Amino acid sequence: MPTITDIESTLESLHDRYRPLNTGAVATYIPELTKADPDLFCIAVRFVDGSGFTIGDTDARFTLQSCSKPLILAQALSTVGRDMVMRLTGVEPTGNSFSSMVGLDQIGKPLNPMVNAGAIVTASLLPGDSAEDRYKRMRANLSAYLGSEAELDTAVYESELRTSDRNRALAYLLKSKGTIEGDVKQHLDLYIRQCAISVNTQQLANAAATLANNGINPVSNERAVSVEYIKDILVVMLMNGMYNYAGRWAYEVGIPAKSGVSGSIFGVVPGVMGIAVYSPRLDEYGNSTRGLAVFSDLSKRYNMHIFDQRDPK
Ligand code: GLN
Repeated sequence: MPTITDIESTLESLHDRYRPLNTGAVATYIPELTKADPDLFCIAVRFVDGSGFTIGDTDARFTLQSCSKPLILAQALSTVGRDMVMRLTGVEPTGNSFSSMVGLDQIGKPLNPMVNAGAIVTASLLPGDSAEDRYKRMRANLSAYLGSEAELDTAVYESELRTSDRNRALAYLLKSKGTIEGDVKQHLDLYIRQCAISVNTQQLANAAATLANNGINPVSNERAVSVEYIKDILVVMLMNGMYNYAGRWAYEVGIPAKSGVSGSIFGVVPGVMGIAVYSPRLDEYGNSTRGLAVFSDLSKRYNMHIFDQRDPK
C-alpha cells in the first residue's frame, strides 16, 4: 500500500497521464449538470491517519448525486436496522441502468440500494418529525462524513425536482407495492436533496476515508456511522456501486466504490485510505471516464484489489 509520500508523486503523474483522456460526455438529463466544465479534473486521497493530498482542480464543486447512496444506506441501517432494510430492498446486482424500472412491478422491491429505486426506499426510511427535521438530520450526518458543513446546490436541486418524472414514477410504483410508506413527495424531495449536496473532491475523499476508518472521520474524529454497518455498506458498494459496470469493476479494480452522474467516483481501501476522483465526462454506464482510468491504474499499481494476494508465497 502507498504512503503519503509515494502517493503524491503517483497522483501527479496520473493526473498528467489521464488529463488528455477526453472520451465520454457530461450528463444532460438533469439540465443543470450540462453546465459543468467537462475539462475539470481532480484527484484526492485521505489516509486513515488523517493525512491527505489533492491534485488538479481542487476548488471544483460538484453534487454528490449517487455518491450519496451508500451514505444514506448507512443512515437507513442505523435507523431501522439490517432486517428491515433487507426486507425492503436487497443486495443483488441489477444488470440494468441505475434508473431502470425493469422487474420492479414483478418483484415489488428494488434489488439494491445503489440504484435509484433502492435509494428512494432508503431515503423513505430516514428519521425525523417533519420534512425539515429529516433534512436537517440527513445533512448533519452527511457533514460528519465530509468533515465540514454539507451545503445544498439549490440550482441542481431545483433542476432535478423539475425533471425527475422517472424517479417520481419509481417512487409511486413502490408506494403502490407497499415498499414505501407515508408521504412519497417528501421522500422524493429528500432523495433529490441528498443528490444535490455540493462537495469538492477532498470532501468526497474524506467520506471514503470515514468508511475506510470504521466509520470515524479521520480528520475531525467524528463518528458518522457505527462500525457495525461498515461491512454491509462496503459489500453493497462493491457489488452494485458502479451501476451495470459493477461486475467488470469488481473484476478489474476490486475497490468498493460508488459513482455519481456529476462525474465523481469515491472508493474505499479498508483500513488504509479513501480515494475520490472528479471529472464530469461519463461513459455509457454513467461512470466518469477519467475516474475509471485513475482507479484502475491505482488498484494495479498498489495491489489495492480486495482479493490481491498481499504476501504471495
Ligand atoms: N440524482 C440522480 C438521479 O436520480 C442520481 C443518479 C446517479 O448519480 N447515477 O437520477
